[in-house]
Amino acid sequence: MDNKAIYKLTYGLFVVTARENDRDNGCIVNTVAQVTSEPIKISVAINKVNYTHDMVKNTGKIAISVISEDADFELFKRFGFQSGREMDKFEGFNDFQTGKDDLKYVTKGTNAYIAADVVEMVDAGTHTIFICEVTDMKVLSDTPSATYAYYHEHIKPKPESKNQDNGKTIWRCQICGYEYEGDELPDDFVCPLCKHPASDFEKIL
Ligand code: FE
Repeated sequence: MDNKAIYKLTYGLFVVTARENDRDNGCIVNTVAQVTSEPIKISVAINKVNYTHDMVKNTGKIAISVISEDADFELFKRFGFQSGREMDKFEGFNDFQTGKDDLKYVTKGTNAYIAADVVEMVDAGTHTIFICEVTDMKVLSDTPSATYAYYHEHIKPKPESKNQDNGKTIWRCQICGYEYEGDELPDDFVCPLCKHPASDFEKIL
């Protein structure tokens, strides 16, 4: 079995936001898809380790901001590479508006906003798949949506690969570009920047 085949699937990128007990939070996912058109339902898979996951599960409300090609890396750092359990991701952040059910959505580097109510939850192991019925939508810009491939090509900072000629092995996080130097990458290694596991690293040198 060639595991690389799974990389041929294409994905968009989204900021998923939720609100519980007057607390706002959000995370980045690549797993929003339309399921039905009448009524309009979407599916959103969220990793159970994300604080946003618990908030969506508890409140049954979710907002999606569709990330567009003009998004900058700061957006990914803010919502993707840190945990809302430890800090307020909206602190010092002004690029949002408040939509349905008081959920915040991102207005910069995004091209659409979708609010939805959870109607079904599927336990998929590491993730929960939330099936949601759309309750509100708005187009924010005409900039094309950013695909996961576009993020890797154009938004993620170019890796430095500073040690190219010293003979050392470099492992690069395919999510954020962080580089680890060492002959072997430990199986339990976790990216210090984006917290993705060793399986998301590739050997580049
Ligand atoms: Fe990373």
